[in-house]
Amino acid sequence: MARHRDGVTIITVSVSELNEVIEELSLRTDPESIQEFISERIRLVLERTKFALACEQWGKRYKDESRVRSVMQKLVKAGWADELDSIPRAAVMDITRPPTKLPRSSKAWVTMESNLTAIVSKKRAEDQLTARERTMRAVVDQCLTTFSGLFPRYAEFADDEEVKRLLADEKMTIPELHATLVGHAPQIRERWDKEARAKIDALLPWARQDTSVSEHADSELAMKSMVFCSLCHCILQYPEFLVHRCTAASDDLVSQPSACWNKTFMEVVYQVIIACGKDPKTTRVDDMDSSDARLFCACCALQMPGVLTVLSWRDAVAHPYTVPHKSKLTDFTMQGITWRRVSPEDCVAVKPLEDNMAQKNKDQREVGAGWHCVICARWKPLSLSSIGNHVRFQHSPLWRAAGLTNLEAQRIYSYFAPSMEEVSTGGGVFLVSSDLTEGDIAAQFPKVNQALQYGRAAFTQSLKASPGSWNDEFLVNNMLRSG
Ligand SMILES: [Zn+2]
Ligand SMILES: [Zn+2]
Ligand SMILES: [Zn+2]
Repeated sequence: MARHRDGVTIITVSVSELNEVIEELSLRTDPESIQEFISERIRLVLERTKFALACEQWGKRYKDESRVRSVMQKLVKAGWADELDSIPRAAVMDITRPPTKLPRSSKAWVTMESNLTAIVSKKRAEDQLTARERTMRAVVDQCLTTFSGLFPRYAEFADDEEVKRLLADEKMTIPELHATLVGHAPQIRERWDKEARAKIDALLPWARQDTSVSEHADSELAMKSMVFCSLCHCILQYPEFLVHRCTAASDDLVSQPSACWNKTFMEVVYQVIIACGKDPKTTRVDDMDSSDARLFCACCALQMPGVLTVLSWRDAVAHPYTVPHKSKLTDFTMQGITWRRVSPEDCVAVKPLEDNMAQKNKDQREVGAGWHCVICARWKPLSLSSIGNHVRFQHSPLWRAAGLTNLEAQRIYSYFAPSMEEVSTGGGVFLVSSDLTEGDIAAQFPKVNQALQYGRAAFTQSLKASPGSWNDEFLVNNMLRSG
């Protein structure tokens, strides 16, 4: 047995062992043999010392390791077994590794235990967050189907104050969280809808000034029923514009939805409503749709003498964006300049032409684009068969997991919402002066000639071939100036 005192190693030897050495030594006579025996004894003693030291070291380590084990067992008993199992071995070793100088101080033991507790707590918090985020995504997927795609995506949903609060509530179990989120989904959707429209309000000069509450719900106002995206160059209607994202935007948790709403478009809508004789602050979208008021574009009237392009309000707002105008000075946002009212008789005269156009649009709907994916926030509308392929291939894990057939999935994960371009080309219908012949039309205005073939144009006695005869000097003067 070896001990240390004041830096000296003291070795304990038994008496019998000492006697044995003395006896061995007395048997040897020649110096060489004695020398050999002494060397051998020294070697044995040194070896034993080393062995004793190693044993002592091992004893200390064994004690340390059992205490580490008991700390770990304490954590397991406290319910941290799963976290301890899933933390990488190396990370646990880093914390529990014995120090070079054994034994540890009581402070070192406390530090080790608290470090271990901290690492398992962190792991549990991370796991819970992942599980909560997964639950939230599942709720959004479910709601996208319920609300036909018109629902906030993950990033916007997670941004709702109520959702943030629920996600942070650690007392709530995962099933409770799921049920609560599903229960709150309609209100969350309402808030999201309201916020998106508040951004559009910010573009409206009168909405900024006039804080009085409108007599109609916001979404029913004609003024707020459509927007124009400057980046994608398309007109979008409510509620589809809520989910619009410009082509470059992704739907990751970190990205925010982006849309570039055009302010000039809002001014065009404003002027069109005024030109139809209505008040943009109170006029509802269905009032506008059922209104008999029709407009014509003074610029087009001058470009095509003898032809009147008659526009419904929806045609009129799309017109500046879809029909090329020669005059660069044409300003569709100026009151009383570009937009002119069509006479009541002519408004009646265009009804059959508009019905023809509506029927043709309707016939084209099912085969045309206008179908959207419920899951993706892609605006670009596709044909029914293309969206079917998209759903089948892009979302197969989803519909397979839901136990749907391929055809059921296509029906559930797609919705029809025609783009404004499909609802209105901005081209309107044409009234042609009976002063002109079909030959004149074919020669001068191929677009109008085609419309005649499709039942979108008709001759009328009420128009004269010269714009001057419309008895509107202001219009003529203005157009001559700008043209
Ligand atoms: Zn866009
Ligand atoms: Zn025009
Ligand atoms: Zn999709």
